[in-house]
Amino acid sequence: MTERLYYDDAYLTEFDAVVTECVAADGRYLVRLDRSAFYPTSGGQPYDMGTLGGANILDVYVGEDHDVYHAVDAPLKVGERVHGKIDWPRRFDHMQQHAGDHMIASALWRLLGGVTIGLHISHDVSTIDVAMPEGVTRISSEDIRRVEADVNERIQRDVPVKCWFPEAEELKSLPLRKPPTVSEHVRIVAIGEDEMVACGGTHPSTAGQLGLVKIVGVAPARGKMRVSFLAGQRALADYQSVYDIAHTTAAQLSTSVENLAAHVAAMQEALKRAKFELNRLRRDSAVNEIQHSDLPLTDKGVRVAARMLAGDANLIKDVASQLIKQDNMAVLLGAEVEPGQAVFVFARSQNVDIHMGQLLSRAAKPLGGKGGGRPDFAQGGGAPAILEAAKGLLFN
Ligand SMILES: [Zn+2]
Repeated sequence: MTERLYYDDAYLTEFDAVVTECVAADGRYLVRLDRSAFYPTSGGQPYDMGTLGGANILDVYVGEDHDVYHAVDAPLKVGERVHGKIDWPRRFDHMQQHAGDHMIASALWRLLGGVTIGLHISHDVSTIDVAMPEGVTRISSEDIRRVEADVNERIQRDVPVKCWFPEAEELKSLPLRKPPTVSEHVRIVAIGEDEMVACGGTHPSTAGQLGLVKIVGVAPARGKMRVSFLAGQRALADYQSVYDIAHTTAAQLSTSVENLAAHVAAMQEALKRAKFELNRLRRDSAVNEIQHSDLPLTDKGVRVAARMLAGDANLIKDVASQLIKQDNMAVLLGAEVEPGQAVFVFARSQNVDIHMGQLLSRAAKPLGGKGGGRPDFAQGGGAPAILEAAKGLLFN
């Protein structure tokens, strides 16, 4: 079995080891060592990268035999002594995220009674899934702030982080946050005076090295509550990015970051009113234009208004509804909502004997469109050419 050097020293970045096995598989080489400081993917923490001998690490994982396997891009000689070098920024980032996970899990447990089920550290954000009392899958923003305050208070107090393998007797007496999932070689990670749990991961030696922990999302996921968070450098990078976006946006709107939300709300309200007014004007203008046009008549004396209008489905519905208040009107209206794609409203006055639903359906189908409805009012969608096709059917 490989001796796992990271258990005792998470800060060990270089080490020497003897190659005990090297097997070619799928264009890469699976290497075992007598000892290793490379962390294998486990407990939600991703594997370490770096170099081993003259090879680059592609993956590190725990095999079915519970031993550590290093997937590398070049063969290493069995029996040879090799030098391993760990990609420290990547490892330290994982240490910050992993300790952040324990501290958030601890706060959720102590403050709200939530039991953390699993951790997942991805390349951008880390998540923990939490079983909350009574199965709730969300918490209030006040509770999120309480958890953040609890965690960051301990970071600022720089509480110690300790990792060790207790004897069976000692293990029984420890106030663990939850029971260990393994029964032998149980490793304990304790952060400060009130957080202790079984864990095989790598952690900083003090909480202060996390710098900052920020919760960036709480949402239901598979019946549990999923908490997304950033720790350390990731939290700082996020603050810098959010700071830049907030200040750039505020400058564009000639306001301050403090007034940004109120400013945007006022803009949305003004935009809503402007859109409403624009729709009213477009409707009135279209109705007016059609009413005063020389419209073609069917052989039964029905005035036919066939138009494509600038607007949307609501606008043409409004215009059609206005026009059919008069007698002897058949109104075929379309609006191109995106290139090559139009919506249609076909409507008629009560005294006109044309089935609008059937007319729209007959015109739309050969052109791959859809539509239908009542004898006096129909709606559909498809190619803009449907409008001319329907007009043609009326005058045949
Ligand atoms: Zn852990």
